[in-house]
Amino acid sequence: MPPSPRRLFSRSETRPDTPRAAPPPPPAFRQSVGGVPAPAPRAGPGGQWERGSGWHANEQVCRGGGWLERGRARARGCKRSGSGSREHKGPGSRSSSAAMASAPPPPALFSAAEVQRRCAAGACWVRRGARLYDLTGFVRRHPGGEQLLRARAGRDVSADLDGPPHRHSDNARRWLEQYYVGELRGPTQDSQENGTVTYASAQDANPNVDPRCKSVDFEKDLVDWQKPLLWQVGHLGEKYDEWVHQPVDRPLRLFHSDFLEACTKTSWYIVLAVWSPLVMYLTWFYFRSLTRDNVRLFSSFTTEYAIPMSKYVFPFFFCFGLLLWTAVEYVLHRFLFHMKPPASNSYLIMLHFLIHGQHHKSPYDGSRLVFPPLPASLMIFSTYVILRIFLPETLAGIVFTGGLLGYITYDMMHYYLHYGSPSKGTYLYRMKAYHVKHHFEHQKSGFGISSKIWDIFCHTLIPETSEKEQ
Ligand SMILES: [Zn+2]
Ligand SMILES: [Zn+2]
Ligand SMILES: [Zn+2]
Repeated sequence: MPPSPRRLFSRSETRPDTPRAAPPPPPAFRQSVGGVPAPAPRAGPGGQWERGSGWHANEQVCRGGGWLERGRARARGCKRSGSGSREHKGPGSRSSSAAMASAPPPPALFSAAEVQRRCAAGACWVRRGARLYDLTGFVRRHPGGEQLLRARAGRDVSADLDGPPHRHSDNARRWLEQYYVGELRGPTQDSQENGTVTYASAQDANPNVDPRCKSVDFEKDLVDWQKPLLWQVGHLGEKYDEWVHQPVDRPLRLFHSDFLEACTKTSWYIVLAVWSPLVMYLTWFYFRSLTRDNVRLFSSFTTEYAIPMSKYVFPFFFCFGLLLWTAVEYVLHRFLFHMKPPASNSYLIMLHFLIHGQHHKSPYDGSRLVFPPLPASLMIFSTYVILRIFLPETLAGIVFTGGLLGYITYDMMHYYLHYGSPSKGTYLYRMKAYHVKHHFEHQKSGFGISSKIWDIFCHTLIPETSEKEQ
């Protein structure tokens, strides 16, 4: 479970004293680092480093204190690229604290040897020019596969971002910026121990970050990330559509109320625990009634028309249910989840954000990846009612059970596509790449999650050519 935002917003942390304090390593790194000396972690990182929280990304970029302070530090820090050469005093000099407050904090510097040492210890750092990114927490989720990224640990990925095999989207580049940790120390900087450090060479080595691809600046974002989002998002109006399609790696808080907030969250295994016993029971129940009793086709007040049916129709109707689900999945995702709310109606925007927008804004918020059982049961029950209109009870039941299995498979698969690391060449690997493209680049196509068949039929297929990687 991601940490509760209460903890995330903790102000107990203080800003590091020295401007050159290294960012705290993420937990994965801390665990895997072994005997390699790590930089002193900043005071009181608290319990923020939980799997999937994604906060570390922003955190490392900011390298500030509590969230408020961090935000400001970040607002300054993110403007770094593109500015000219700059000088700052080493850790020894703290005379001009007022000047420091207005000047952007200098980036943390890492030597090539240090980067290599961290990579050897299991971390996955890559660079673009002189800009360093810690992808340790992300590497498993990389749509191009974990191996592809690990093979590039410690190296410059500028060329890989442009492909071949795949040109990474603007959103993918913006995503990368979230993991920025500092700059690679050039040879000139290496020789300067204390005293004045010039950043000119590091700056020159940077490929200037495209403003479109810069990480979302949470201080200047359209919404206040320290407050619950749902109400704010409702008032974004025209800007909502663009905002919601710029994904970030951090959990969301929707409501102020802890109770309401908890109601919107569901762990993946809840879906499995609630629905799979029902599938097993219904499979047994309907198979038995098919083999034991005649199938009642329809009945009037006085007579009942029923015929015996072979048990072999069971798999046929069951598979029909599975297929029907893939169609439902497609229709729901395309026409309900991606219905564009009118900019003037804040309630429809909020509804959209609640049902699907939040997932596009924060695709790796694991607590909201699957349907909560309560709203799901309403939809599942109405599906059964609709099926009963067209089919006799037993047959409707079999189709329904197949469909329910399809739904569970879909929800589990969707979760896995976000968090799993399927091996290259497998069906899941291709579907992961496909679904991530829906999130990052082609939000108006690629609606199929468990399969592409309806995308093919309805001409919303994402082109194959650029599917290798995110
Ligand atoms: Zn979607
Ligand atoms: Zn998704
Ligand atoms: Zn990639």
